[in-house]
Amino acid sequence: MNILVVEDEPNVVAFVKKGLQEQSYEVDVAYDGQTGLSLALQKDYALIVLDVILPNKNGIEVCSAIRKQNIHVPILMLTALGTTDDVVKGLDAGADDYLTKPFKFKELMARVRALTRRSNLTQHSGKLTVADLEVNLDTKVVTRGAKEIHLTAKEFSLLEYFIRNKGKVLSRLDLLENVWELNFDLSSNVVDVYVNYLRNKVDKDFETKLIHTVIGMGYVLKV
Ligand code: CA
Repeated sequence: MNILVVEDEPNVVAFVKKGLQEQSYEVDVAYDGQTGLSLALQKDYALIVLDVILPNKNGIEVCSAIRKQNIHVPILMLTALGTTDDVVKGLDAGADDYLTKPFKFKELMARVRALTRRSNLTQHSGKLTVADLEVNLDTKVVTRGAKEIHLTAKEFSLLEYFIRNKGKVLSRLDLLENVWELNFDLSSNVVDVYVNYLRNKVDKDFETKLIHTVIGMGYVLKV
């Protein structure tokens, strides 16, 4: 499995690269954002580890540019800043997870495993539908009626999970564990933030709402 590491600090690169290679991953390194972006667009990676503060183009810009090309590779953002704002910015740009520097190698590996496993798991094929909403798992194209809906990788996973569990009330914890697969701080509102993003795209312009809030319980997707 190939992993791209985009990071400008040589000591962090050395540490991450050595560790990943020991776990038998093949590692490409880019020391600036522009090079990282070119590699990400050229090659098929199982995961991209992306620093935020980089020369040429920062990690947030690189991440948005990758998603704009409709590339769904899992992206793990490395942030030294660690404030909620930066984390949310990274997630908004289409990152799947983040790790705050300094981090332990064990922590990095747990996330690498979760993200690469998830991308394997989501390689189902076929179509999922509910009402006039259709999710094509092969092409990753989402449509509602005649309208194509553009989702980020995380929004896509969230919608896929909702449809696979249609009619079932899903708690925030359930969504965190299954869509993010990681123990985010439970006090964080990441689930609500993403459900809102999804609603704006999937429900807002349509008469029939599909995603419903169940007060005190969570969310349910149903007609
Ligand atoms: Ca940096």
